[in-house]
Amino acid sequence: RGVLRVNGKNIRYNSEGLVPAIIQDALTGTVLMLGYMNEESLQKTLDTGETWFYSRSRNELWNKGATSGNRQIVKQLDIDCDQDTILVQVEAQGPACHLGTVSCFSRENSDDIRSKRTIIQQVAKQIQNRKNNPKEGAYTTYLFREGIDKILKKVGEETTEVVIGAKNNDLNETANELADLTYHILVLMEELGLSIEDVKSVLKSRRMEEEEGIQ
Ligand code: AMP
Ligand code: ZN
Ligand code: ZN
Ligand code: ZN
Repeated sequence: RGVLRVNGKNIRYNSEGLVPAIIQDALTGTVLMLGYMNEESLQKTLDTGETWFYSRSRNELWNKGATSGNRQIVKQLDIDCDQDTILVQVEAQGPACHLGTVSCFSRENSDDIRSKRTIIQQVAKQIQNRKNNPKEGAYTTYLFREGIDKILKKVGEETTEVVIGAKNNDLNETANELADLTYHILVLMEELGLSIEDVKSVLKSRRMEEEEGIQ
C-alpha cells in the first residue's frame, strides 16, 4: 500500500488507505484531537509543517485551521511501534475542537488552561504582552523603552537588595527582593528572546550529566 516513509519507517495504512494521527500539544502534552490522514495529507503535513487530514464525511483533504485560523504548527512527528498510528506534536494557534475547546477530549477552555500556568509562567506571559502591546504609564513598558542597559542595571540593583536582605537575616525583605529580582530577570529574558523553556532544558541536561556521573 503506502510508500511514504517517515523517519525511515513505512506507514501501514488501513484498508481505506488511512492512518490515525494523534495530535498533542508539544508544550503541555495535552492530547488535542484525533484525525485521519491518507498518504497525500501526510505528505502535505510534512511539506507545509501544518496538520492536514482526510475528512471521511466530506471525502476531501482538510487543512486544520484553514477556516477557523486555529492552525497547528508541527513540532515533531513520530510513528508508533507497529507503524499504524502517527503522533504529531504541535504548537496550536487556537482550540483544536470545532466546539471551541482546546482539546476534543476535555471541556476545559483556554482560560482554564491559562490558570494552570505557574505564577512564573503567568508573569512571563504578562511581560510578553506588555512588550507586544505597550501601555502608557506601565512600569514594564517603561523598562522596555529604556532598553537593555536599564534592565541590566535593575537586575544588578535587585541582586544587591537580595544580598542585603539575606545579610540582615530579614526573610520577609529577602522574599520581596527575590520577587523583584525574578520579575526583572523575566523582563531581561523577554528582551533577549530567551524563554523559561530554554533555561529548563539547560537544567535538565545538567541533571542528566549528574545521573551519568553517579553510575
Ligand atoms: P478548521 O479546520 O478549524 O478551520 O475547521 C474546519 C472544519 O473542520 C470544521 O467545520 C469541522 O467540520 C472540521 N473540524 C475542525 N476541527 C475538528 C476536529 N477537532 N475534529 C473533527 N472535525 C473538525
Ligand atoms: Zn500501532
Ligand atoms: Zn472536537
Ligand atoms: Zn527591590
